Amino acid sequence: SLTIGIVGLPNVGKSTLFNALTKNDVLAANYPFATIEPNVGVVGVPDPRLAVLAGIFGSQKVLPATVDFVDIAGIVRGASEGEGLGNKFLANIRESDAICQVIRAFKDENVVHVDGKVSPKDDIETINTELILADLQSIEKAVPRLTKESRLQKEKVAVLAAVEKAQKILEEGHTLFSQGIAKGTEQGDLLHELHLLTVKPFLYVFNVDEDELTDDAFKAEQSALVAPAEAIFLNAKLEAELIELDDEEALELLQSVGQEEPGMATLGRVGFTTLGLQTYLTAGPKETRAWTIKKGATAPEAAGVIHTDFQRGFIKAEVISFADLVACGSVTEARAKGKARMEGKEYVMQDGDVVEFRFNV
Ligand code: GDP
Repeated sequence: SLTIGIVGLPNVGKSTLFNALTKNDVLAANYPFATIEPNVGVVGVPDPRLAVLAGIFGSQKVLPATVDFVDIAGIVRGASEGEGLGNKFLANIRESDAICQVIRAFKDENVVHVDGKVSPKDDIETINTELILADLQSIEKAVPRLTKESRLQKEKVAVLAAVEKAQKILEEGHTLFSQGIAKGTEQGDLLHELHLLTVKPFLYVFNVDEDELTDDAFKAEQSALVAPAEAIFLNAKLEAELIELDDEEALELLQSVGQEEPGMATLGRVGFTTLGLQTYLTAGPKETRAWTIKKGATAPEAAGVIHTDFQRGFIKAEVISFADLVACGSVTEARAKGKARMEGKEYVMQDGDVVEFRFNV
């Protein structure tokens, strides 16, 4: 499955946040028998549709989609110089599908800032500089080879041009993602063979003081620093407390700081979309469940997420949109009203499809 790597300067609250990530109980529900690596935190993706479906079907269990976060330990500054830990740090980021930067905005004088002052803008620049330098090194290594190859292989001409364009952007101090060059875009895909870091989607977590959680002007200012990447605002200490409380107490604490959901839930939701993922839903008396697919996945590919046999033996999918199912109140009624569609192999799954697959075994 896809993973999001968590990075940040020392003392910004990464461990505090990560501990909260590894303690939430979505883990036990979704992976009862799996061993999870100690540096992986699994977060549920909040989806209010699941409870509604569970009500309609009388499901015993509800399983949300999940996102995996990987704690990427190691120093940041100097990482691109490739010494020891730095190398490992970059290799771990390279394996992640998206990059989540934790940025300190909380002021606490008892917690030392590595650079002596709290400045989200400077911290973002410090981290991005290392990633940019690492990408420039990859490019410098690749250019002589690509230049040679492009004389004989026509398709390498476009790759070389894309690489040179990327080099210019990086030299100006920008990440490629911030300039619209990302995985899935034409330019981004041309760069694929270089395994660059800054084409990965970015996501920023601002670890803020409690009063800043409701400070819209402050949040708008920070969001502007990182756009088009998404910004999330949370207080890591508060998240660590929330995880220890029962639902009712947690709700009370959240309301006392003007929040509608835990930062963890926001992180799950935003992380999921940052990875370019989508869900479809299955429901029955046993369980209601959200399954994770890539945007644009076809019905057989979606079936394959449940079991490879479902994909191999795929015949059709009976699809009812969530809205239609809720309006009709039951599958029987939806069928009677012509709202249940039989879809074939070419069908591209839509967000919120409630599905039952027909397959040969
Ligand atoms: P890391 O080095 O990035 O993993 O940071 P830690 O999670 O170890 O946190 C460093 C210090 O900052 C610890 O003493 C934490 O208790 C403290 N800390 C973390 N998050 C917050 C926060 O939101 N507010 C305050 N005041 N302190 C925090």
